[in-house]
Amino acid sequence: MPLPGELPHGLAIVGIGPGRREYMTGRALKVIAGADYIIGNDSYLDPLEPLLTGKQVIRSSMGKEVERAKKAIELARSHKVAIVSGGDAGVYGMAGIVLEVLEHSGADIPVEIVPGVTAANAAASVVGSPLSGDFSVISLSDLLTPLEQIERRLDAVFSIGIPVVLYNPKSQGRPHNFAIAIGHARKYLAVTTPIAIVKNALRESGNDTIITTLGDIETVWDTVDMHTTVIIGGSESRIWRQGEHVKGIITPRGYHHKYVY
Ligand code: SAH
Repeated sequence: MPLPGELPHGLAIVGIGPGRREYMTGRALKVIAGADYIIGNDSYLDPLEPLLTGKQVIRSSMGKEVERAKKAIELARSHKVAIVSGGDAGVYGMAGIVLEVLEHSGADIPVEIVPGVTAANAAASVVGSPLSGDFSVISLSDLLTPLEQIERRLDAVFSIGIPVVLYNPKSQGRPHNFAIAIGHARKYLAVTTPIAIVKNALRESGNDTIITTLGDIETVWDTVDMHTTVIIGGSESRIWRQGEHVKGIITPRGYHHKYVY
């Protein structure tokens, strides 16, 4: 079956990864290159600038996702449209809302979802291997999910001791959710549990990383913001050192139970 990128019209929802061309998939580059219209908000479009020449570019703003989805669907009836989304389009990204609006519209247009490197993978890659086995991902944004529901989820995942990746950990509008999440973690995990705070993972600007522990997190509290992904290790995670240097976090997958190395 031909993908929408090869058809005369249709809609592609493209995950562009952390925002650097070399971390985009070949498919994402190809679909963007073939599109007539590119839709996205400024922070996602700016790193793509060299790819946008000769295209109709529609810049949208944060919080206008439904409007953006409707516009993209309208245009995709007769053009090739790529709607870009940071990281993976399906992880707190545009894919879900676009599909919901499309379903509601009843329009029968070809759709392709192009996956991208999500923040959990980008952040994990710069601090070792904290997510080697089972892990979970929770967003602390209560704009679309009630805080009580977020708290129930946090409690559940911390209680089973797997690493937890926090998206949208802190913003000026809701500075307290991060403290609430740490409170839930402390009910179940040791103070020595490693935590990675990764800002701007794999972005052009360069990333900042801090490795700390659940007991010491208050000392680096202010570094956590909306450009940050926080990885809280699980019950088996440990600090990874090379010589004297703290390099990151390792969560053993379990090979040591079976092999000698
Ligand atoms: N669809 C995106 C996530 C959007 S939610 C993805 O798959 O990555 C926005 C949150 O993602 C931010 O608040 C931050 O927690 C995280 N994030 C996105 N890009 C990041 C990056 N390069 N470095 C660190 N965190 C990032």
